[in-house]
Amino acid sequence: MAVYDYDLFVIGGGSGGVRAARVAAALGKRVGIAEEYRYGGTCVIRGCVPKKLYVYASQFPEHFADAAGYGWTVPQASFDWQTLVANKDREISRLEAIYRKNVQGAGGETFQSRAMLVDPHAVHLLGEDRTVTADQILIATGGRPAPHPALPGHEHCIFSNEAFDLKELPDAIMIEGGGYIAVEFANIFHGLGVDTTLVYRGKEILSRFDMDLRRMLHETMEKKGIKILCHAVSEWVRKRPDGRLDAVVTGGKVLTVDQVMLAIGRLPNTENMGLEGVGIEMTRTGAIHVDQYSRTSIDNIWAIGDVTNRVQLTPVAIHEAMCFVETAFKGNPTAPDHETIATAVFSQPEIGTVGLSEDEAIKRFSDVEVYRASFRPMRNTLSGRDEKMLMKLVVDGASKKVLGAHILGPDAGEMAQLLGIPLKAGLTKDDFDRTMAVHPTAAEELVTMYKPTYRVRDGERA
Ligand SMILES: Cc1cc2nc3c(=O)[nH]c(=O)nc-3n(C[C@H](O)[C@H](O)[C@H](O)COP(=O)(O)OP(=O)(O)OC[C@H]3O[C@@H](n4cnc5c(N)ncnc54)[C@H](O)[C@@H]3O)c2cc1C
Repeated sequence: MAVYDYDLFVIGGGSGGVRAARVAAALGKRVGIAEEYRYGGTCVIRGCVPKKLYVYASQFPEHFADAAGYGWTVPQASFDWQTLVANKDREISRLEAIYRKNVQGAGGETFQSRAMLVDPHAVHLLGEDRTVTADQILIATGGRPAPHPALPGHEHCIFSNEAFDLKELPDAIMIEGGGYIAVEFANIFHGLGVDTTLVYRGKEILSRFDMDLRRMLHETMEKKGIKILCHAVSEWVRKRPDGRLDAVVTGGKVLTVDQVMLAIGRLPNTENMGLEGVGIEMTRTGAIHVDQYSRTSIDNIWAIGDVTNRVQLTPVAIHEAMCFVETAFKGNPTAPDHETIATAVFSQPEIGTVGLSEDEAIKRFSDVEVYRASFRPMRNTLSGRDEKMLMKLVVDGASKKVLGAHILGPDAGEMAQLLGIPLKAGLTKDDFDRTMAVHPTAAEELVTMYKPTYRVRDGERA
């Protein structure tokens, strides 16, 4: 039997790669892992974590404004972008060190290097100019923002990576895209006082989410002062003599801004890694093609996380890592379960969602009950904030199974996490009805909507 340097070599030290390396090492496997940039990957360094910290920062102006109705006088507030960036940097450096240490603590060996495949059992570490061998190889190289080379002036644009570390907070920004990253950044910049325009080619922001929530979030964002242009794309971006940018969007409208941020999708990191040479099959979008167990077309090479373009979320990459370890090292073939994933959009207000949207449910079920409540949450009463919350349950009329739960409003992400449990367990509306409310909360609405607001039978609303 061939003797390799490692039982497992992992390429990519992000959410999925670090988890797989740590857990396999803790099993006593000889594990090496290479990261070309910073341990923690997209989520920790330039994704979920810094994003959420910036969301918190951007919420303070509304908290200050709301305080008056509760009797507080808040002196004129001021904001310092450099302080936020520096404090964010400190926090992600702390997390980065923990990620690396956790792998090492479990017995894994960490490399600071770009890695590429040489053959099915050999990985070249460019930073060290050496080649290591491994019995099993896991590719967890994630993704990166999709560029837009066809856009004249694209060289003046930034992506989410750069948005976190701008030298100065812009006075005005145009963000192109309608996915959750574009929407979240629009809310962040607006909350920090930036004149913000969101430009999206589709008919409504946040495709794939429930239409009710999409529309209501759109309206609420506009009410706050965020400009949203749907059915529009940027046609060119030009630098002005004063250093600002002119962005021309569909219809000839010119937006003069300090930054143009493109958030038009993400591409898997599969280039210049020797994958084709080794015979690894790719999908049409350049992602690594894997079977249900995350195995690539080469028997001992596996891929997890964003590089496989299944569901691009941190908990999914981590779950796929755990399933990979079960399959490859514990003799327990385990396919990741991508059904009924709870998720959030950290917009303002937030979206929390799990399961089928109303439109998806109608396509799949002939009798759909919709329970819907739209109300002003209690905390908006004394503050006078004119913002409503929306809660919605989508139920199969025949079995009463709750197919989807959708929330727009404060703490919706936290609620979605808890709703993920009953929906994953396949609980019914009767189970929700049997559950005692917690009073006074906004979430109690989820267990007190006793009668359907409407039903949709064979696609017809009754
Ligand atoms: C702005 C933003 C916000 C996000 N917010 C959320 C959120 O709120 N919730 C959520 O669940 N998800 C969020 N995500 C998605 C989440 O970050 C990803 O789904 C997750 O990080 C995927 O993990 P991964 O292990 O597949 O890849 P990554 O975390 O991207 O890790 C891949 C690592 O591989 C390294 N690498 C690449 N090529 C090589 C190579 N050849 N050699 C060595 N190293 C290499 C990269 O440097 C990177 O560190 C967000 C993403 C972005 C961009």
